[in-house]
Amino acid sequence: MQRLCVFCGSMPGARPGYLAAARAVGTLLARRGIGLVYGGGSIGLMGAVADAALAAGGEVTGVIPRNLEARELDHKGLTKLHVVASMHERKKLMSDLADGFVAMPGGMGTLEELAEILTWSQLGLHAKPKPLGLLDVEGYWSPLVAFFDHAVAERFIRAEHRDLVLVDRDAEALLEKLVAYRPPTVEKWIDRGTT
Ligand code: AMP
Repeated sequence: MQRLCVFCGSMPGARPGYLAAARAVGTLLARRGIGLVYGGGSIGLMGAVADAALAAGGEVTGVIPRNLEARELDHKGLTKLHVVASMHERKKLMSDLADGFVAMPGGMGTLEELAEILTWSQLGLHAKPKPLGLLDVEGYWSPLVAFFDHAVAERFIRAEHRDLVLVDRDAEALLEKLVAYRPPTVEKWIDRGTT
């Protein structure tokens, strides 16, 4: 794992544990010599993870669309900041640059980013399969994980695709799962047995 992409909120959230976890992830990546790829902003959890990684001597690459530079206050101290034309370019470049993904607590943007990575994995669109983990800080993702299980039970998501989502409350343990991840062989993404 050379570079990990972290999706997270542009807001700090309601509990101090969110910001603390973002800082811990930044520090952990730097200590492990894993580059951080993220959305390039300096606000919310995004800014906290980047600041902590930089403070610990890590490599940080930001990818921000031109029209969000002002709103998300593009970080001025990054190792590298890519300014791209659109949100689509942002997600594609973040995905190309990273070997895996972690979603920390966040809002609509974070949800969209993680859903897209999962659908790309499900369709086999990544050049090589890349793992995705939910860092379940303060149990934030538990309702989403429960929803995924519900969707499997209701046969809208295949169990193999549900298993693409690694989950842990502890950043170090989640990183180990991502590093150890071996993708399953899923031959067909449409569940023909239920049509
Ligand atoms: P949020 O989780 O809503 O605080 O947003 C976190 C990050 O996701 C921010 O950098 C947003 O710019 C980004 N974001 C918002 N909408 C989208 C989208 N449609 N696709 C990709 N990223 C988005």
